[in-house]
Amino acid sequence: MADRILLLPDNIANQIAAGEVIQRPASAVKELLENAVDAGATEIRLLVADAGKSLIQVIDNGMGMSETDARMAFERHATSKIKNIDDLFHIRTMGFRGEALASIAAVAQVELRTRKAENELGTCIEIENSLVLKQQPVASPVGTSISMKNLFFNVPARRNFLKSNASEMRHIVDEFIRVALAFPGVFFSLTSNGQQLFHLEAGTLKQRIVQLLGNNYNAKLVAVKEDTDYLNIQGFVGKPETAKRTRGDQYFFVNNRFIKSAYLNHALQNAYQEMIPSESFPMYVLFIDLDPTQVDVNVHPTKQEIKFEDEKIVYAFVQAAVKHALAQFSITPTLDFNL
Ligand code: ADP
Ligand code: MG
Repeated sequence: MADRILLLPDNIANQIAAGEVIQRPASAVKELLENAVDAGATEIRLLVADAGKSLIQVIDNGMGMSETDARMAFERHATSKIKNIDDLFHIRTMGFRGEALASIAAVAQVELRTRKAENELGTCIEIENSLVLKQQPVASPVGTSISMKNLFFNVPARRNFLKSNASEMRHIVDEFIRVALAFPGVFFSLTSNGQQLFHLEAGTLKQRIVQLLGNNYNAKLVAVKEDTDYLNIQGFVGKPETAKRTRGDQYFFVNNRFIKSAYLNHALQNAYQEMIPSESFPMYVLFIDLDPTQVDVNVHPTKQEIKFEDEKIVYAFVQAAVKHALAQFSITPTLDFNL
């Protein structure tokens, strides 16, 4: 019997892997914004056209890449962020899987321009179907500009699966807000079809929350801050009166990474018990920082789900910190020895 197993060519392997990382324009937006943050950028501009279906471009003033790195960046499992398995448990960067650019290059027409401060000229590289079409030196500001055109042009099934522009744009704005909330010290802008939707000067978390989630929160935020040996919690929760009928403005970040956690949502909901009507949802933007060895971020390719080493402790601390911050609104009388 003849042998039948073949090793898939790289471009096909990349396209298959891309399915996990890049599901829609917003997933590419997330990856590119996170790369810009990881590169130490202080200014990050996002431009999209047709809700990212025809263009997604991210321009940053971060550290840039060398000529060789610019090519390497598009290889699968190519990353500057970890070197060994131990590093995986000490992650401080947003990225580490070395998959995003390889995936994007498998499903879009990509152009990257980048320059490091120490180089006089930058480099421009064009890639399509995981193949480098050309690379040449160019004059370029320090930092990186990456544009991807016609997402899924070569994967018609995926392209057809995309939702309306309004819906895809909502997903993009969601991802943009998550990253912009996590890094209030960085300037961000978002331009869609030539129209600027967000222009966020670097500032404090409070300013960023108000800029992104609305002026009505301006006088309605309660600071949360609790430092323990195990973890630090900081951020803001909305005064009870800001609770909404729909689960809207709820953000958890663990070591600056936005995460989804039904379990921690529950801790928050509990902390507001009796202060808000049932069936309503509090607003919160909370940052939990703890030793990276206490979280596994490598549970899912999009990294939005994480696993805590000890989730009960995290739950208890989060709930206590928020209850503490909200004590003034509690209807349960507390003992006051100064009376
Ligand atoms: P990861 O972020 O997981 O390392 P990516 O595929 O997103 O994987 O990127 C591969 C590598 O390319 C990164 O590790 C980084 O060295 C480099 N890189 C990507 N984007 C940028 C950027 N905007 N500025 C500087 N370097 C970048
Ligand atoms: Mg990345």
